[in-house]
Amino acid sequence: MFTRCTTATIFGIEALPVIAEVFKGGGLPGIHLVGLARGAMRESLPRITSAVTGSGLALSKERTIVSLLPAELPKTASALDLAVVIGLLKVYGALADASLEGRMFYGELSLSGALQSVRGALMVADLAKRRGDRELVLAAANADEASHITGIDIIGARNLSDVVAHLTGKTVIAPHIRAPRSHVTRRGPCLSEVYGQPRAKRALEIAAAGGHNMLMIGPPGSGKTMLARRLPTIMPPLTPEEQIESMRIRSAVGDFDTAYDARPFRAPHHTASDVALCGGGSPPRPGEVSLAHCGVLFLDELPEFSRRALEALREPLEDGVIHVSRAAIAVIYPARSLLIAAMNPCPCGHYSDATSASSRPCLCGLDVVQRYRSRVSGPLLDRIDLHVTVDAVPYRELTRRDGAAESSSVVRGRVEAARVRQTTRLGNGRCNAMMGQPDIEAHVQLDTEVVRLLEQAIERHGLSTRAVTRALKVARTIADLAGAADVDIGHVREALGFRVLDRQPLAEELAA
Ligand SMILES: [Zn+2]
Repeated sequence: MFTRCTTATIFGIEALPVIAEVFKGGGLPGIHLVGLARGAMRESLPRITSAVTGSGLALSKERTIVSLLPAELPKTASALDLAVVIGLLKVYGALADASLEGRMFYGELSLSGALQSVRGALMVADLAKRRGDRELVLAAANADEASHITGIDIIGARNLSDVVAHLTGKTVIAPHIRAPRSHVTRRGPCLSEVYGQPRAKRALEIAAAGGHNMLMIGPPGSGKTMLARRLPTIMPPLTPEEQIESMRIRSAVGDFDTAYDARPFRAPHHTASDVALCGGGSPPRPGEVSLAHCGVLFLDELPEFSRRALEALREPLEDGVIHVSRAAIAVIYPARSLLIAAMNPCPCGHYSDATSASSRPCLCGLDVVQRYRSRVSGPLLDRIDLHVTVDAVPYRELTRRDGAAESSSVVRGRVEAARVRQTTRLGNGRCNAMMGQPDIEAHVQLDTEVVRLLEQAIERHGLSTRAVTRALKVARTIADLAGAADVDIGHVREALGFRVLDRQPLAEELAA
């Protein structure tokens, strides 16, 4: 007696098909599991046995072999349980008349036979649909997630007995219908709630419009976190493709919230490990930088992150993806997010250069300030187009309610218009931050006046050519926000103003 039952395993942000083959007959009694079952799956036999008897069904004493194919695929998830049990019940006769054709099973069983919520339901539903299956049977708790994929019946069951009743036709479970979304609009944070800070708000708008990574430098309590949280609210809405990609990543970690149409915002703590930040582990899981995919990754207290963690960020910031490999498994996760970082100007938080007035004096020596800032120098800083100083807001600004502050939706309107100009010019949905040298040469024409300004910046402030390249991309975005066809000296001057860390007031003061 032989049967096969289809299930799936999660690999990165893809579900791959797994076939549970069950063969009964000959030899010593007992159930034997073969086919590279790892981790939780290795302990599945006692669990499966208990779940079946707990559901009032019986397993045969005859020799039975369960093989999970393809054998070379590592199968770590216990979500294969359900398919194995259904296969066993089929060869033992309890499901003799039920058809397993065109059906996929995905679920972990508890000892009593209840179906547990598992990660990856969305990806499995997508796989089942692409394979041409008509039905996916899984835990009721995962049905809503899976039903984002249309064109396949999602059967949400509470326990094994329900699945058996469904398959034998005794009590058929109707396909899950996703609850209509509430029409109450989510009241997210709004830019109008931030008082003062015109420069920082301007930088946010430029960052959102051109996809530029950004660093805020300011004393504690100046509202850096408040500003960062509002960045997703001024970015264009997710495209349908971005929505699905973002959902897949959340599905892969089993953190599937209902706000799937909002841009993600992730703010890992500075003690986060490189694995937590960039992904890894066994089985591999996506890290914060992938959970922020299509959204915003906020790193507060940037100099406090470990060097190892910051090093690991280079690949995703450069390529928009991250390779995670552990033992024989190599997985690629998407990781294209907008980075917004924040730091104090010095360890005590109150250092200020001549251009900003801080309410309290700085207690750090200049060499200490220099050392603190140098922790974020180098390759990471090279990926950040905008640096902006955020000053402590005077009390009267904080209490002023003039109603003149722009809302996120007004700013988002300008951002979207600027994005349209960029994608029309650059193609492939690219924005200005992704421009290479040829793009810059083609789309940022400089007159002699601008060239002279750039030469001055290089000579007087020690700006590197890389820094100038970044400033030119930002200038292009500023021109796009203004609806200007060409970049002029005003755009370049404003862009150069966002290179705070490149100018070397510290070095000059140290020399004085
Ligand atoms: Zn200080």
